[in-house]
This record gives sequence, structure tokens and C-alpha cells, in this order.
Amino acid sequence: MNIQEAGARTPGVSGATKKPYRGKRGGGEAKVRVYLEGRYRKLARGLPQTIFYCPKCKGRRRGCAFCGGYGKLTKDSVQELIARKVLPRYKARMGKFHGAGREDVDVRMLGGGRPFVFEVVQPRRFDVDLEELVEAINAYGKGRMEITALRPVRRKRVAELKETRSDKVYRALVVLDRVLPEDRLQGILGEPIVVTQRTPKRVAHRRADRDRTRKVEVLEARAFRGPESQPCLDLLVRCEHGTYVKEWISGEEGRSRPSLGELLGAETDCLVLDVWEICGPFPSVETKGPEPCFDSVMEWEQLLREEDPWDLERLKDASPRGVTQAPTEVEPDPQEEQGGQEGDEGVLA
Ligand SMILES: [Zn+2]
Repeated sequence: MNIQEAGARTPGVSGATKKPYRGKRGGGEAKVRVYLEGRYRKLARGLPQTIFYCPKCKGRRRGCAFCGGYGKLTKDSVQELIARKVLPRYKARMGKFHGAGREDVDVRMLGGGRPFVFEVVQPRRFDVDLEELVEAINAYGKGRMEITALRPVRRKRVAELKETRSDKVYRALVVLDRVLPEDRLQGILGEPIVVTQRTPKRVAHRRADRDRTRKVEVLEARAFRGPESQPCLDLLVRCEHGTYVKEWISGEEGRSRPSLGELLGAETDCLVLDVWEICGPFPSVETKGPEPCFDSVMEWEQLLREEDPWDLERLKDASPRGVTQAPTEVEPDPQEEQGGQEGDEGVLA
């Protein structure tokens, strides 16, 4: 029995019934936490970053027709795949997931992966073999997600990851209305472009309607025939923090200028998106040493040779019942629509 449980069963201790710990401002006792930093790749569409609670019952389950009493819309998430291996080893019941931003459920996180901190709440064991833990997580997540080596960090690291403004590299599957000559493709490579973007219509209801300028640079572009043999581009594009990349590709009726379509002289639309790189560094005051990174580099060229390089097979049912995860009050990156939560609490069922 731990301290909270003892307190909860002994009314009158310190004049009030102590409640089990319920978050930052609850409790009152010193809480032991372990913070582990790494990066994750999400290799499959349809896997949310954090627990995908049912939007109707908010995970309360009871009598909910929408989720059939399950409380969640997906069985797994990156958070849960990690937690199921971390928590038993630390003899903890709860873990929180803090990502440096997040991608939508139907967007993959490839390339160099995304930084995160996994917070172990109230561990009762500390001598955990981190190498063995990472191996266990990667075996469990095989084909769907993988992580780098983990390093212990301090609480402050969570804020450092969340507050650092980082450029992103996106990989986009772009549909064209015509076949383009190769030299026109080459002509847009390797030059930073300053783009003026008006707030996209889809977010105008919760963001100020204004113009902003962002730098965009096309790193790679390859033409190919798409799913229904329409002309397509496989694009790697580096975007300054806060760029609306899908709107830059489509132009959104002149709200983004110059758009990819204007530069190419064609109609362009973004069919599918992957995040390729969350560009560091993420400077730290307290943590020394190199940031976690993957041993093996993911090659864009190599990806193109895969049988289903866009994971289109899983795209069809990547958004459970057409529901997107609820936006939360903090939205660190406009393209990563669901915003960053203060940390998703997850008790293992
Ligand atoms: Zn429900």
C-alpha cells in the first residue's frame, strides 16, 4: 500500500481525507517522477500519438453508444505502446506522454522522428535497464512505431521540448493536373521561398485572420504516376515553424502566395502528408550530451522503392469514424492541428 492509499483510507489524517493524486495541483505530497527522453517514429497511419479518448464520453465509457463502452477510438497509440513496456518495469501505474508537438492520427512521423518525454508517475522501482526497455518497446511496436535510446532527464526538459520553435520537413504526396517537364521541377529546388499566408479557412474560427510570412524550401521532388495513374509528385519540403504546408501546396484560392502550384504553373493539391523531420536542436539548460537520435538513417530515396511507399492501404481507415482528436488549449504548431496537451495521463487498463 502506498502513501496515498493509506491516506485515503484514514480519514482525519491532516484534518482531511487525502485523495489519490489527480494532477499537478492535486495531492500535496512530494511525488516521485522519472522522465525519459527519446524520439519516436510512427510508421503506420491510424496510430494516434496519445490515447484517443472517445469524444462523446471522454473516456468515461459507461453507457456510451458511440464507443460501445470502450472509452477510446483506437486500441493503441504511441503513448500506450511505450507505456505498456515502461510501466511494469518501473512498477508504476501511470505514465504521461509529452511530445514536441504532434501529428494527426492519419499522418506518419518518419525520418528522424519526433522528440518526446515519457513521464513515469510514482515508480516503485528505479533500477531499470534502459537498453533492454527500448528493445522491448521496439519489438512490441514493430512495423508501427519505434523509438531511439532513452535518456533520463529533468522535468524542465518537457517545457524545453514544447517551447522550442523548430522547422519541420514534410513529405507530401502532391497531385497535379498535368505532366510537368523535369526542368520545371528542378527549377524550384534548393531555393528558400518567402510565402505569405493568410489564416486558412479551416482554422479561421479559432485563430486571428491575418497574413504571416514563412520560409519554405523544396528539398526533393520526384514525379511519378499516382494511385489512379494521375501525375503526382513526391515532395520533401522544409517549412519554417508555423507554416500551413497543405495550404501552401494547394494555394487555397490565393490565400497562400506564391503557392507550389504558382511556382510550377500547374494545379496542385496535397493528397497525403508525412512529417519527415522535426529539426533541432532543442537546447537544454540542465541536460548535457547529445540529443537522442536514431542509429539508422531513413532514406527518402529508399522509401520510394517500397511497395506502398505512402501507406495508402491504411489511409482509408486511418481516421476512426471520421473523428479527429479534440484540439486542446495549447496549439504549438498550426499544421499539427490537435495541439499539444499538457501531457496525456494514461492509466493502463
Ligand atoms: Zn464513448
